Amino acid sequence: MKRQVTYRRDGNIAEALIDNSAAGANVQQISGSLAEALRTFDKDMQAEALIIRCLGRSFVGDADVDAFGKAQPRVGEVFSAMDRIGKPIVAVVHGKVLGAGLELALSAHYRIADEGAVFGFPEVKQGRIPANGGTQRTPRLAGLDLAIRLVAQGEKIDAGAAKAAGLIDEIARGDLARAARDFANMLLDQDAGPRSAGDLPMPADDPALFSAARKFLGRRMRGHEAPLIALDALCLGYETDFADALDREHAMGKVAVAGPQARALRHVHAAERMVAHVPGLGADIAPRRIDTAGVVGLGTMGRGIVMAIAAAGIPVVAVAQNEAQVAAAQKAVGTMWSKSVARGSLTQHAMDEQMARVTWSADMATLDAAQLVIEAVTEDPDIKADVFQELGRMARSGTILASNTSFLDLAMLADASGRPAEVAGMHFFNPAHVMRLLENVRTQRTAPDVVATIMAFGRKIGKLPVLSGACDGFIVNRMLAKRSREGFFLIEEGATPQAIDEAMTEFGFPMGPLALGDLAGLDVQAAARKARRSTMTERELRADFPEQMVAAGRLGQKTGAGWYAYDDKRKASDDPYTRAMIVAHAARHAIPLRDIDRQEIVERLILAMVNEGARLLGEGIVPRPHEIDVAMINGIGFPAFTGGPMFWADQRGLQTVLATIERFAAEQGAQYWTPAPLLVERAAQDKGFYS
Ligand code: NAD
Repeated sequence: MKRQVTYRRDGNIAEALIDNSAAGANVQQISGSLAEALRTFDKDMQAEALIIRCLGRSFVGDADVDAFGKAQPRVGEVFSAMDRIGKPIVAVVHGKVLGAGLELALSAHYRIADEGAVFGFPEVKQGRIPANGGTQRTPRLAGLDLAIRLVAQGEKIDAGAAKAAGLIDEIARGDLARAARDFANMLLDQDAGPRSAGDLPMPADDPALFSAARKFLGRRMRGHEAPLIALDALCLGYETDFADALDREHAMGKVAVAGPQARALRHVHAAERMVAHVPGLGADIAPRRIDTAGVVGLGTMGRGIVMAIAAAGIPVVAVAQNEAQVAAAQKAVGTMWSKSVARGSLTQHAMDEQMARVTWSADMATLDAAQLVIEAVTEDPDIKADVFQELGRMARSGTILASNTSFLDLAMLADASGRPAEVAGMHFFNPAHVMRLLENVRTQRTAPDVVATIMAFGRKIGKLPVLSGACDGFIVNRMLAKRSREGFFLIEEGATPQAIDEAMTEFGFPMGPLALGDLAGLDVQAAARKARRSTMTERELRADFPEQMVAAGRLGQKTGAGWYAYDDKRKASDDPYTRAMIVAHAARHAIPLRDIDRQEIVERLILAMVNEGARLLGEGIVPRPHEIDVAMINGIGFPAFTGGPMFWADQRGLQTVLATIERFAAEQGAQYWTPAPLLVERAAQDKGFYS
């Protein structure tokens, strides 16, 4: 359906009214009728000013990610037509004013915004750049600093910040249509005339701002190409005239959108939507109603889960073993929320409301009020089995019992509860109130409506739920275990921790695996290894670096030393201790140390995960590769611009992937590198995981 722009005139003021009342209207769809409305206004002798306004909850936005560059007439040219109209044009914006929607507003001569409006260019996060004039008009209107933050860093700002910087002219409260007319009348009274951003000079060049941005992007969006292209596009304003800069910006935008990173990011965007729909779970399976949730076990994870639920507006009963634990948890949660208030990311009022939603208790019987109980007690099979037995006994019939366990057998907990159809896993990531990923886990016996409920509940509390079958480690931890194994083997063979971490951060991970170990705590890693000793090979047992670190009192950041040494600001530096430990380890076990290049490090760490992903898929733990890519990107920061491990492998070609894995099998041992049957099968058919 084509969305139309209605042109109408009341007295000397005309209005181009965009119908954005149904979700999904976008600039690309309306470009034709907007062009028409602009032409009509230009020719309408009675119209002295034009207001561009939107019906609906938000100002018009961008097209679906797949439709870029396909609009006719070209969106940027329609916008630029405003530069040539000799009468003032006012854009009146509200809601989300993002991407091409913001570019439309910036092409008008004046802007007024609802006080709740939010402005930004999310393009760089999608591998694109604003290419309808956004990189040229933003700096001219709002200065270089804000332009860099919006255009290249993908920052969003509110109406106050937009007004302060000059991106908009006025903030309107109340009736927008009326405010727009008043503003237009005021312009006419003052004989203000048209005012195109293109007629304004570029702000003074400031190389320091550009280099600060490059530094910031190296930290926050490492490996992403689009933000750097966006910086180059901003510079066009210093190199050539406005019209030529617009043409060149458009050309750069076209290259970016067709590039591999944009393709991968489009894939991720689609996959994140796809995983919400569980194959085989019909629309007739209604989720159960959860008015109150419960959390039992208020350690690190339980606290975060309580916070996530309360923040979503859902009452939650939080239960610990005794009053002292309850008090400690209550205090810790209060402190975390207070810090958010101090930072300005939460209002005191919202914090008070969230606090009021939590009922703190040391009595399991209070969980009776909950229709969903999430267990987050100590990772110990006996303790958890006891808790599930008790929950099975006391929770109301119909209450869903979910475990946050990372590695324990959910079927065993289901048995202990005596109501296996209502038992599932809800595996949050630390910190649970921040991390978006939620691995929901179903066992063979979990009822379909329980699955539907935990998926719906996960979304309700702001998470990105991905459904996994029950297995050791589910998706993320199971794949990560393989990366850890290869990491420790590489260290045994001579790779330095720095080389490994650098190889991974260069690949695009926000942090290397060893730095991450230091952050999470090497004691935690050593304990996890201990729990899994029975499944480990002799070589895995031998590569006992976390245990060696713990024995030396080096638990990571929290003790000031682990793989790296840390100063009191937790800044890492190389520590000769680590090198000495590795050399002594190699000597003890007569392992020759060798030089290992970056390519081998990357291939061994990434392909160990890809091969395990192929097993997850082949075993039916996940129905589609989408679940794996979404989980790995959102769970451990697998770089989104690669599309995730399975998409990345497809781009590389599964035959190449298989050949490398077979080479590693010959070099390292088949017990570690036997290719997953699904990988062999797909490679033989010259297919990918996705094709
Ligand atoms: P934690 O040690 O911080 O907290 C566990 C809490 O459970 C402690 O406060 C303990 O006193 C309490 N507890 C023990 N027995 C209890 C009982 N019978 N009733 C009520 N409370 C009891 O551990 P954590 O890191 O929060 O982990 C909790 C669970 O979450 C584990 O299953 C763990 O595998 C899982 N998990 C942890 C992480 C992580 O990164 N820490 C991530 C995902 C999942």
